[in-house]
Amino acid sequence: MRILLTNDDGIHAPGLTVLEEIARQLSDDVWICAPAEEQSGAGHSLTLHHPVRLREHGDRRYSVTGTPTDSVNLALRKLFADKRPDLVLSGVNAGENLGDDITYSGTISAAMEAALAGIPAIGLSQAFRDSGAGFEAATKWGAKVLAPLIDMQMAKRTLVNVNFPALPADKVGGIRVTRQGFHDYARGSLAEGTDPRGRKYYWFGLQDAEHTLDHGTDLEAVEDGYIAVTPLQLDLTHHSAIDRLASRFAS
Ligand code: MN
Repeated sequence: MRILLTNDDGIHAPGLTVLEEIARQLSDDVWICAPAEEQSGAGHSLTLHHPVRLREHGDRRYSVTGTPTDSVNLALRKLFADKRPDLVLSGVNAGENLGDDITYSGTISAAMEAALAGIPAIGLSQAFRDSGAGFEAATKWGAKVLAPLIDMQMAKRTLVNVNFPALPADKVGGIRVTRQGFHDYARGSLAEGTDPRGRKYYWFGLQDAEHTLDHGTDLEAVEDGYIAVTPLQLDLTHHSAIDRLASRFAS
């Protein structure tokens, strides 16, 4: 099995080393193509306004001077002339990607890019929340969570979002299959200041947003100390609204 690893925290991120350890328990054919710099919050952006460079850092190890989406897109076009990857893993992100976080997430967007290309894809994120446990849950549980997923036939244009709770490995309750939750809108922190030229600026922060813990969601599972495994789809159509909308436009 050929596995491509990527992330949004950049090629030098500790979470990528964790992911590499996990992936090597599953295969000897592990490739890395990750952003040269941190790209958290980059979402599914593709760099259009300037060129990007693909740099070789060693055997099967590359960086791209662009976004997570650039990294996966370019890797699939330029690195695999003989055989495409069988699986793309993105992460392990330093911080959770729960609820609507996924719409901003470079980690999940890299997995989305792979899913759009028809390759099974899994995003992995480690919640921190000042637990002091670091990547311990992801390190110890990673291969165990991935094993049942990798030989499963995923539907086209779908992916899986895995989040590890902020706990030492032996305190993790287990694995729950969940649905995506939502945070209450009014996101995170916002710092305000004045720049050296006297102009006001704003700076978005990543402080935890408030959320309602709806039953069965990824947010609830991680709060309860479980690993959340959430299937996601790229078909964003709100199918049940099609008929209602059509009737609004019927003459
Ligand atoms: Mn990140």
